[in-house]
Amino acid sequence: MKKVGFFRSIRVKFVVIYVLLILFATQVIGVYFARELETKLVTNFKNSLKERVNLLEYNLREEMLKDRNENSAILEKDIRKILGDFAASDVSEVRVIDNHNRIIGTSDPNNQGIVGQRTTELAVKRTLAVGSEEDKIYLDQQTHNRIWVYTSPIVSNKEVIGAVYLVAKIENVFKQMNEIKQIFISGTIIALLITAFLGILIANTITKPITEMRRQALAMGKGNFSRKVKVYGNDEIGQLAITFNNMTKRLQEAQASTESERRKLSSVLSYMTDGVIATDRRGRVILINKPATEMLNVSRETIMSESIVTLLHLEGQYEFEDLLNMKDSINLDFSTKDRPYILRANFSILQKETGFLNGLIVVLHDITEQEEIEMERKEFVANVSHELRTPLTTMRSYLEALADGAWKDPEIAPRFLEVAQNETERMIRLVNDLLQLSKMDNTDFKLEKEELDFVKFFHRIIDRFEMTKEQHVVFERKLPNYPLYVEFDPDKLTQVLDNIISNALKYSPEGGQITFKAEEKNHYIEVSIKDQGMGIPKKNLDKIFERFYRVDKARSRKMGGTGLGLAIAKQLITAHGGKIWATSVEGKGTTIYLTLPYEPSEEEDWS
Ligand code: ADP
Repeated sequence: MKKVGFFRSIRVKFVVIYVLLILFATQVIGVYFARELETKLVTNFKNSLKERVNLLEYNLREEMLKDRNENSAILEKDIRKILGDFAASDVSEVRVIDNHNRIIGTSDPNNQGIVGQRTTELAVKRTLAVGSEEDKIYLDQQTHNRIWVYTSPIVSNKEVIGAVYLVAKIENVFKQMNEIKQIFISGTIIALLITAFLGILIANTITKPITEMRRQALAMGKGNFSRKVKVYGNDEIGQLAITFNNMTKRLQEAQASTESERRKLSSVLSYMTDGVIATDRRGRVILINKPATEMLNVSRETIMSESIVTLLHLEGQYEFEDLLNMKDSINLDFSTKDRPYILRANFSILQKETGFLNGLIVVLHDITEQEEIEMERKEFVANVSHELRTPLTTMRSYLEALADGAWKDPEIAPRFLEVAQNETERMIRLVNDLLQLSKMDNTDFKLEKEELDFVKFFHRIIDRFEMTKEQHVVFERKLPNYPLYVEFDPDKLTQVLDNIISNALKYSPEGGQITFKAEEKNHYIEVSIKDQGMGIPKKNLDKIFERFYRVDKARSRKMGGTGLGLAIAKQLITAHGGKIWATSVEGKGTTIYLTLPYEPSEEEDWS
């Protein structure tokens, strides 16, 4: 947050307001006080002089009324004497003028020249004419001091017999007034300084807790709830600080619980196997868990805020609004040529309590394996039905022919019955093979392994085939002349080798050769059965181990094959921990290889 500027701070505002208030108050008081005081001082000054002038007038009147036979020189002399008594420090000059406007005396010893002259002062003339007193303050042009000029009539029996003209030094009164004003101004400045200082102190007591609360709020914003505001008192600010601390505590608790919920949710999201994506109400991705990024092969950083429709490659098929109303799941097929990959997406909307749409949650589930199993199941059922229907149809037509009268024909009837018998046997074989596969698919399928000499075991099987074989095929054995003790389930391995050898015989031409080989290799033995038959095209080599796969269906069926022999062999060899594969050259022959884990025994090493 921005720092509050110095001049905008409460502290400064507080001090300024405080100082202005005091300044205003002192000014109002000062102006009123100064004016009143000035008026009072001036009035006092004038009154005291007026009283003295009254007394002077009384003395002058007495002197002027004395009969001196018009001898003005005597009068002037007496008046000078009275005026000499009147002399005072605050009086500059006092003149006495008779009713003929003639100056008959002055107190100024340096100005005695004007005695006997006619006065030029208008105020004096007006006083003599009207009989009223007059006073006025003037600025002396020479000294630049204020002077008070007072004229008062000398009245005897209601007749103006003369006038007193007084010039007093009133400047002292104003000087005194200025001094008082100076004292007042310095007093005001001192008061303002004290006020400002006190204002700062008071403002501090208010702003300090507020500043602390501000700091605390900033720290809270950054997630630090450990601080507490100091409570300085029980006033309103103190109460605010207490409330603030309570609020901090509540917030801390709320934040802790939100944080723990968030952590729980995030660990649930990251540990779940399903992918989860959340969007905002415009369909932009705001959350995606790790499994979802892996499923969609995207990085979290790049797809944040991307549209969910784009992310799921649904452009052109669905709009975001369609997904909001989606009741069923959608299968997203991301399969490539080499790898099937199907995701199932389920949608649910995020709503506020008010019903306001907040976003969409998409849950992704990898259903590739499920789909593959389902496809395999369907294919298997179709294959089994097909495999069973073919012999059954054949049988039905032969049996129908027999029922229609062929049974009476001694030549046809036995042939037809033989066909029916062969087909029945093939069906029995097929069902047995299916049962065998189903047993192996069962989880509790177990091998019953024994440690036996594999060379001896192999010889015995080849012997059996040699004895029962119908066509002319040469058997060649390339087996070690020492025992190889291998751990295996003899019944199951018999079944494997029976399947491979009977195939080799089936596809061997008359006079062909079958080579049986067993070799000891590093930690395993390798067995191979090589024929000189028609061979298998290269592209079909791997497929011959799949269920129901046959290179030439018609031929295999004719030979009584079920198409399951090598599939069963592969499953059994894999269960033994070995491998099975084939190599072939078309027209030259086929070799089927298989391996079994083998550890040479110590006894052998000793011998
Ligand atoms: P089938 O019952 O048809 O023999 P198998 O699973 O044993 O079923 O073999 C699958 C297919 O592999 C056969 O149909 C055949 O086309 C081919 N096959 C197996 N062994 C040989 C072989 N030795 N020579 C040529 N083709 C073979």
